[in-house]
Parts: sequence; structure tokens; C-alpha cells
Amino acid sequence: MQYHSLKTNSVKASFADALLASLAPDGGLWMPDSLPNFTPEQTAQMGAMSFADCAAKLARYFVDDSFSDDDLRALCRDAYDFPMPLVESTGRVMDSATPEIASDYFLELFHGPTLAFKDFAARFMGRAASHLMGKSGETRTILVATSGDTGGAIGDAFLGQDGINVFILYPKGGVSKVQEQQLTTMGKKGCNIHAICVDGTFDDCQALVKAAFADQALSVKHHLMSANSINVGRVIPQSFYYFWSSLQIKAAHPGKRIVYSIPSGNLGNLTGGLIARKMGAPIERFVIGHNVNDPFVDYLKTGEYTPRPSQPTLSNAMDIGRPNNFPRIVDLFGGDFDALSAVCWGASFTDDETERYMRRYHARTGYVMCPHTTVGQLAMDAFGNAFADDVETDFIKVTVATAHPAKFADSVERILREDVPLPEPLAKAFRKKPRVHVMTPELSSLADYLSVTLDPK
Ligand SMILES: *Cc1c(COP(=O)(O)O)cnc(C)c1O
Repeated sequence: MQYHSLKTNSVKASFADALLASLAPDGGLWMPDSLPNFTPEQTAQMGAMSFADCAAKLARYFVDDSFSDDDLRALCRDAYDFPMPLVESTGRVMDSATPEIASDYFLELFHGPTLAFKDFAARFMGRAASHLMGKSGETRTILVATSGDTGGAIGDAFLGQDGINVFILYPKGGVSKVQEQQLTTMGKKGCNIHAICVDGTFDDCQALVKAAFADQALSVKHHLMSANSINVGRVIPQSFYYFWSSLQIKAAHPGKRIVYSIPSGNLGNLTGGLIARKMGAPIERFVIGHNVNDPFVDYLKTGEYTPRPSQPTLSNAMDIGRPNNFPRIVDLFGGDFDALSAVCWGASFTDDETERYMRRYHARTGYVMCPHTTVGQLAMDAFGNAFADDVETDFIKVTVATAHPAKFADSVERILREDVPLPEPLAKAFRKKPRVHVMTPELSSLADYLSVTLDPK
């Protein structure tokens, strides 16, 4: 597959260059030149495979010839060695072999090592990058700005990989206690994962990373690479779980229409969903839930897109005022706003609404959602109310559960007044001593720290 820049379509790259360079030389986002479009017979076959094997089959179209079919199967089986259940709010897991009466599910994408959906993309990307760099002896320095979950997933995926150093920049006081513990305890002292606590906001972290890339000398010196969702390698694997899960639902509920609700920030997860739909996944619509950082919701209502500075909320991983992937989404519809708004429907919610709904939903069903998933479920409810007649009879509704509630134990326990037990990976992080470099949000501070860490004299 060839990739092109969304700024200048004639600027092209191979998969390796698109992945390892992150942004096109003209500053544009990379997009694949085309997408496969599978027939219903082909999709049915792929739905009958395991998730990992289906992912390998899809990945075939996006990588290059340096990956054999066997390489891809091994890579995906290794990356995706954890479950991805579709569960009802009662906790019952969907099973296509038994008749179903349910019409509402959570697609729980938080059973990977860092307990958020970012593991799906990070684990594929990490293994693909290491395959491509493989024998070359090249080195790369990954800079990643995080509002909490991306940093953990990327750190975990690249931990111990030769030739790669990862620097995770997170805002002081801007991530949950559990996330901070996870980010600052990866691997051992002297390993290749380095946590940086920036005395500033998430926007400051993102601006620092951008400034580092824009500094040619610095960028060349350390072979900088981005692991944020500007990297096309982060977005493509997010199509795999929409593709496969929608086929499981189709098999259990033939004849029904399928709608997914996605709690969103940078819109990378939605971009993955739209790519899956274009490849032939039986998904009718997407509902997009935002917190008050909602320029995309305004866009869906009016066709006018006005990014703005982000505000801190309860669902901190979605505190994004200028979603990275907006240009990719417009491009997937060829710039046709009517086509886009016929597929995507959005709604946004305040922290008060989110807290109340989390409490009410828990009281009614016993299901505990993280604040992000709560926004997604609220948006699905609003969609159901807006199209009541159709939705109740015709649709299977799937809310994407993006993080384990224990990752946000500080807020979830306060809201539900109930303990949220820590799963083992998090309990383990709490037994370790944090290692973190604290610095001001200035490029010179970052450059100094990179030099001291990477070229110790
Ligand atoms: C990253 C994240 C989101 C937002 O996903 P985008 O791809 O940025 O839209 C939502 N929920 C959680 C828990 C996240 O970590």
C-alpha cells in the first residue's frame, strides 16, 4: 500500500516511511491511497476467524512486502492475546451460538495490559515498527504527549525494544492517580521508557512535541518519531476491532442494523470505525460522544468547524479542542458534508450530566463505566431518543467501552461511593516506585533532557 499526504496528494510514502516519519514532509497527515472493499461473502469468512487472524488479513492491505502472511499472523496473535468481549449491562457476554434478546452491548476494549483501548493500536504499531527497523541497526526516539492512556499503551508496547527510546510527556495534575502511577513505573531504572511530568496543560505537552518535531536539528539528531494519533500506524489497527466485532453482532442478530457509540477526543477511534465501514463492515451509523470539548459536535450540526483551546473535564482523555484526525474524517467522505452527517451523529455532555448518568446507570444495572464510556453511553441514549421509533425496533446499539473504570478510580469511587478494585496490572504498578523527570514546558528543557538521557557523557 502507498500512502499520500492529505495536504499534497502527490507527496507519497511507503508504509515504512509513513509509520516511521509520522507526518509528511509538507506537514500533512498520511492516508492510505485506497481501501479494500470486501464482499459480504468475504466478510462472513473473516468474521468466522479469530480476531487476531481477521486482523492479520486486514493488515495485509496496509503494510508492505517485508511482512509475509505468516509474519502478520504471528504479529497479530502476539499483539492481541487478550479478550475483547461484547457484554450486556448485566455482565452477560454475547455468544453468537445462542439466540439473543438483548439489543444493547458494551464492546469492552479495556482488557489489554494498560486497560484502555489504546493497547490495540499501540501493540500493533510497536511490533510493526520493530519489524521494519529489525536488522537495520537504526534508532528512533518516540515522543508522545498524553492525557493519560496513550502514554501507558505506547510505553508498554515499546518496553524493552532495541533501538527505541520512548519519552512520555504528561501534564502535572492532568491525569488520574492510577494513570500517573502506571506511566511512571514502566520497566526498570535505566530502561527505554522515560516519563516526563510537564508543569503545564495537555495542550502544552502537545505543543512541546510539535515544537520538537519542527526543530529540524533536534529532530534529525535524535531520529524523532511520533506515537500520537497523527501517526497513521495508530489509526489503522483501530479499524480491526470494528470490522470483526460488527461481524460477530451480524451473525448473532441477522437483519438488524448496527450503530456504535464512540466516546471521542482526537477522533482516532472514530477514524478507525469509518475505515472499517468503508471496507465492508456492516455498520450503519456512528454516534460520537464528547465532553464540553466539542467542536466536532458543532461541526456535525452546522457544517462549520471551529477548533478552540481545551478545557479540563472528568473524562480527561477526551479534553481535546483541536482533534488531530478531523482532516482524515472529512477525507474519508471526499469532503461531502451531507454524506458525513448521514453516518455520524454527535452529542456532548457536561461533567454534571456525566456524573449523574454514571450513578443512575450503575444503580439501575450494576454496570460500572469509566467517565469516558459514560459519555459514550449518554450519547447513545440521546441518539435513541432522537430517533426513537427506528432505534428501538431496528438497531443493535453498541457503546465502545474505552477504559477500565479502575483507571479512573479517584473519580469513579467518589461518584459511585463504592470501591473499584484494582486489576492486577494496576495493583502491580502501585507496588513500584515512580521514576519521573519534572520540567517546565519549554523546548530547551526537553532538548536538554533528551541529550542527557540519550547521549550520556
Ligand atoms: C484516548 C481515549 C479516548 C478518545 O479517543 P480518540 O481516538 O482520541 O477520539 C476516549 N476514551 C479513553 C479512555 C481514551 O483513552
